[in-house]
Amino acid sequence: MALKFDVRRKDAAGRLGRVELNGKRVETPLLFPVYNPNKPIIPVDELAGEFNAPALMANAYMLMKNEAVRGEVEERGMHDFLGFDGLIATDSGSYQMMVYGAVETTNAEIIKFQEKIGSDIGSFLDIPTVPDTYKPRAREQLQLTLERSVEAENAAFTVNAAVQGGKYVDLRAEASKAVGGRFELAAIGGIVPLMESYRFAELVEVIAAVKENLPLNTVVHAFGLGHPMLFPLAALLGCDFFDSAAYALYAFNGRYMTDYGTERVEELEHMGCTCPTCREYGVKLKRLYGEDRVRALARHNLYVSYAMVEKVKQAISEGSLWELVCLQARAHPRMMKALDALMGHSGWIAELDPITKPRAFYHTGRESNMRSEVVNARERMKRISTENTVELQPFGQVNEELLDIYPFNSVWSVEDEPKPKVRDIHKLRAIMEYQYGKGAGTLIPDNVIVKKSKNTRRIRWLYEGKEMTASVRATDHLILPKEKLAVKLKEKYETPKLRVILSDDEDATQCVREGKSVMCKFVEEVDSNLRCGDECLIVDKKDNLVRVGTLMLSPKEIKDFNHGMAARVR
Ligand SMILES: [Zn+2]
Repeated sequence: MALKFDVRRKDAAGRLGRVELNGKRVETPLLFPVYNPNKPIIPVDELAGEFNAPALMANAYMLMKNEAVRGEVEERGMHDFLGFDGLIATDSGSYQMMVYGAVETTNAEIIKFQEKIGSDIGSFLDIPTVPDTYKPRAREQLQLTLERSVEAENAAFTVNAAVQGGKYVDLRAEASKAVGGRFELAAIGGIVPLMESYRFAELVEVIAAVKENLPLNTVVHAFGLGHPMLFPLAALLGCDFFDSAAYALYAFNGRYMTDYGTERVEELEHMGCTCPTCREYGVKLKRLYGEDRVRALARHNLYVSYAMVEKVKQAISEGSLWELVCLQARAHPRMMKALDALMGHSGWIAELDPITKPRAFYHTGRESNMRSEVVNARERMKRISTENTVELQPFGQVNEELLDIYPFNSVWSVEDEPKPKVRDIHKLRAIMEYQYGKGAGTLIPDNVIVKKSKNTRRIRWLYEGKEMTASVRATDHLILPKEKLAVKLKEKYETPKLRVILSDDEDATQCVREGKSVMCKFVEEVDSNLRCGDECLIVDKKDNLVRVGTLMLSPKEIKDFNHGMAARVR
């Protein structure tokens, strides 16, 4: 069965998604703890039970080379052998190749072995390129990796297609284009050395180069990126899978992971963590010896890692992922550099970022200046014809009429001065332009009737005569047009502006007319200036208005996905 991936919530280029594979359903971002059957530190039943791990990763190469167990794994299959019914990903031995320089197997052999043991996700024998490899050599290695990917195309497992290229973004881009469309899952390989030596800005460049060149329906695995301090950053760029051998490897070296970095366990005087292991031992953890200490540290490291994945998911749900990343960036100068690198990709991220979010926008410092929300807001303000502006950081000059809407509303509320007084009709006209385009303000007539909420005294409904033409959403103050206003918008702007154009499928069009969501596969075209969360005109190919809706993905994603919801009908 093929892998199915749905995006359920979005923030920046990050996504909260759902992957279905072989009858198993997992939520992304997802962490695969690496389990080493030859040297288990945390047993599988503990991973599955106490840690509630829906997935794990194991090294197929090491199992294949272990004569004592190979026969048994082949016969029973990986799930039965490990006693784990979640998602199992296996690695091909490429990591061993990076560390030891060579492995004793062939691409065909390791693919076949992973098929035999029933891996849900498997790998071909890619050539991991360490970041600083001489470029011609990196190119050669990439070529070989791509050749080997061909052999895996018909594998029985879902292929985790390696994208290599070292630190060279052009090679990473080339690799992504070669892999894109052929595989549902891509792994950004060879990045562990960047993580370990704190070269986070380069890490951002590498991930961005891959993401910008892969179709957006590809699930992306940041291979070996196991330090929780990097999860928010990588998730913001659109990484969906992480794996961690790091929780155990760090434990062997006496390293205690935190949200913001790594501590040496012997230097700890107090425990800033309340995971079961830290509660059990307290600061006595550092006085444990040998295996006991490794095990305790590994458990703590894994708890911290899982907790960070949950924090990332919550941030995506509420639309505060940028704030989480900015907070992390303050913890280490190298993280700040990574954030600067990230800002260099704001234009691309802005195209994927929702135009409105559940949680208020918080201006947290100079690093907010280039956030994708700010990029989108500045771009939209160019549409506005009024000239009364106020200085509002991080946006710069903001039209007074817009101060009630997302993202400006929360920023103003922390200032001390009273808001400038603006007439309702001027507000409404400017908001129309911000949302729908230059000149959209003229669609609000002088005789519009404005009804306000009894409690908040804020604008809630617009009428022309007895007919309601729009409502104003309480949370972000954006204008949601009813049919009459939607028809006016359609007449004012030529296709494809503001539109989601349905394909010729009459049944699908009828479903939308009756109020069902618009599915990606029935979309012919989308206005590329729309953003996820925007109100849109859903029309048929003859440009008849079918319904008014809200875009649930970005236009780019709607093009790349052939299933899932593109727009919700209101
Ligand atoms: Zn702990």
